[in-house]
Amino acid sequence: MIGRLAVLGVGLIGGSLAAAAKRAGVVRQVVGYGRSRDNLAEALALGLIDEVADSPEAAVTGADLVLLALPVGAMAAVFGRIAPHLGPDTLVTDAGSTKQDVIAAARAGLGAGAARFVPGHPIAGAEKSGAAAARADLYVGRNVILTPLRENAATAVTTVAELWRACGARVGEMGAAEHDRIFAAVSHLPHLAAFALVDELAGRPEAELYFRHAGSGFRDFTRIAGSSPVMWRDIALANRQALVAELDAYLSRLSAYRDALGAGDTDTLMQSFTRASAARSRWQ
Ligand code: NAD
Repeated sequence: MIGRLAVLGVGLIGGSLAAAAKRAGVVRQVVGYGRSRDNLAEALALGLIDEVADSPEAAVTGADLVLLALPVGAMAAVFGRIAPHLGPDTLVTDAGSTKQDVIAAARAGLGAGAARFVPGHPIAGAEKSGAAAARADLYVGRNVILTPLRENAATAVTTVAELWRACGARVGEMGAAEHDRIFAAVSHLPHLAAFALVDELAGRPEAELYFRHAGSGFRDFTRIAGSSPVMWRDIALANRQALVAELDAYLSRLSAYRDALGAGDTDTLMQSFTRASAARSRWQ
């Protein structure tokens, strides 16, 4: 049982963890801090949190566990602010979509206290933001990846893993570099592709005509372009090295399609589409 959980950033991810942990009965009290007073008032009204803190320092004072669920670009400043206010046994974790940059920020901000920081990433979410989008069942049956630090105590990793499991998630572990490489391909690149296509069409004089006629394929492909621009700006920049490599590979694929179309090369298109269709069907 966690006595006091501090959630810094009570949006979709932080609010859902608070709601799920309360529902599971594994946390006694949740204090929330964030930048938007309206969002915190909503989180309080919805019962996601029990108390609003005016600062990150106040939020973490007396907390047993601290969850950072802010955009990854905002985490460095917060680690620095909370460091002097953490109790000797307070654990810190995060839900950021990138891990190497968050770990570097934790090491810089927490110093030796980074031993108590267990990095995490729930593979669950939506294109919606804010406390109003939070759901107690968001993590049920979903994966959560922890990328523990070598200096983490085994008990610290277990406590964080148990919290996610109590919320219904399956918990696995991997290295931070491997995490960032994989998610550049399966998450960050798809978001870039969706943003690019929607922005391209939206900038045309006839944008309204295109959107009016778009069907379910466009809806499926571009759903994630409705995601938070701040969050995705931060993710893209934080993981830019792996993302640029994936972008290059994707551009080269698109370029091969372009060449095949120009040459009327049905075989190349058919072979690639067939391989992709089979792989996508197997993944279901
Ligand atoms: P969100 O926009 O719903 O919530 C973020 C909250 O942080 C907001 O309430 C906002 O007011 C607050 N905030 C933003 N900047 C702040 C700052 N500088 N100081 C204090 N508060 C600040 O976003 P979310 O979807 O809950 O994402 C939170 C984290 O979880 C991000 O790091 C994101 O990468 C990660 N994540 C998101 C998803 C997803 O699909 N949405 C999935 C997995 C992980």
